[in-house]
Amino acid sequence: MERYIEPFKVKVVEPIAEVSRDERVAAIKRSGYNLFKLRAEEIYIDLLTDSGTSAMSDNQWAGIMLGDESYAGSRNYFHFEETINDITGLEHVIPVHQGRVAENLLFQTIATKGSIIPNNSHFDTTRANVEYQGAKALDLLCEEGRDPGLIAPFKGNMDIQALKDLIADVGTDRIPMVMITVTNNSGGGQPVAMANIREVSAVCREHNLPLFFDAARFAENAYFIKVREPEYADRSIEEIVKEMFSYVDGCTMSAKKDGMVNMGGFLATRDGDLAERIRNLLILVEGFPTYGGLSGRDLEAISRGLREVLDYRYLHFRIGQVTDLGEQLTEGGVPILRPAGGHAIYLNAGEFLPHLKPNAFPGQSLAVSLYVEAGIRGVEIGTFMFGGKDPETGEERTARHELVRLAIPRRVYTTMQMNYVGQAILDLYAQREAMRGMKVVKEPAFLRHFSATLEYLEQEETITAS
Ligand SMILES: *Cc1c(COP(=O)(O)O)cnc(C)c1O
Repeated sequence: MERYIEPFKVKVVEPIAEVSRDERVAAIKRSGYNLFKLRAEEIYIDLLTDSGTSAMSDNQWAGIMLGDESYAGSRNYFHFEETINDITGLEHVIPVHQGRVAENLLFQTIATKGSIIPNNSHFDTTRANVEYQGAKALDLLCEEGRDPGLIAPFKGNMDIQALKDLIADVGTDRIPMVMITVTNNSGGGQPVAMANIREVSAVCREHNLPLFFDAARFAENAYFIKVREPEYADRSIEEIVKEMFSYVDGCTMSAKKDGMVNMGGFLATRDGDLAERIRNLLILVEGFPTYGGLSGRDLEAISRGLREVLDYRYLHFRIGQVTDLGEQLTEGGVPILRPAGGHAIYLNAGEFLPHLKPNAFPGQSLAVSLYVEAGIRGVEIGTFMFGGKDPETGEERTARHELVRLAIPRRVYTTMQMNYVGQAILDLYAQREAMRGMKVVKEPAFLRHFSATLEYLEQEETITAS
């Protein structure tokens, strides 16, 4: 990969408190070995999520001062609308305070009990909002995407044949729309090829089915198209984005990702009737259509962020930082999911700690060690997050993979800090045999990973749990 450097310099700094290893040990004990219960100030480098954690530019902060807080018709709304029209070609723009509200309003409007919404992979909130309407959220990810060890350029692609088969099987009446998530968050931030988007679109148009993007990382996806799909090598990011959106009828967007802001989102569509129905619901839950749960200044920051994210040098730096961390780890023999996606690295904790079986939570043990030894917060995505008692049989379920996700915030950490993260993981890898398994000692009925309490297993228990 062509070398990247930060295409910005620092104007304001945010100090990071010094927290000693002893203090981290005390903090994680107090938190019941649950990283969600730490105070953020107890962390040196926070890789919990790339959502809402971006650093804004001086241009965005300047835009904040130009916020017009009129209840109706704020100038910032018109700038927001024009920007989204211009970048995506989608005509009707509805602001919301975050992506899941766009999903909620959309599926309330178009889905009913028995509907099926296919996607390459639904993101958690998308799936939940589809299912809340009694509809089915169906993942039709391509075969490469389902093989974690395989190196392929577009592991986020939809399985076109599966989509055709579905339409042949159930007919179009039960499918109110098709979605493509760019990049595919649940699949590790893997991109979708332009060729795939074009083909899905052709199938949808043939059958008169609307196609929407879940567009949270649309610019990162466009970067991958530019560098991996040869016919796009000489096209600008703006041109690629425009072509991507030319194949869809609308999108939902969490601006907390490629909007480069800390809060916000929107829904955009070519369908005026749909937009009107959604605006009627918007007034009930978010607000008047020219602000939709956001301040005028927020709308301005998003408008500016959406332009900045299209800068090739920024994207090259951004994806370069993620890729480089992945390479540093791979060269040191650390097992990760490959190729690295756009926004995160996934440590394969099952292979990192082969002496720990899924029911000893290798991912959680690794995530806790990474915090204690280096002050870094990642998140377990494995049996701690997805396991727990089967509601029918009462048996402990295990996840398909034991992972720790390290999501990289946009423009926040320097390359030196990223190197520190890489080195810390390599150091942990050298001491991996000493890492003990864990057990859950207290858990709620649902979504236990947010609040459950854990403890380390004794050495003998680690062996028997294995
Ligand atoms: C974050 C995200 C959402 C939900 O957006 P929020 O702003 O967190 O409500 C939906 N889809 C994808 C792909 C996301 O990454």
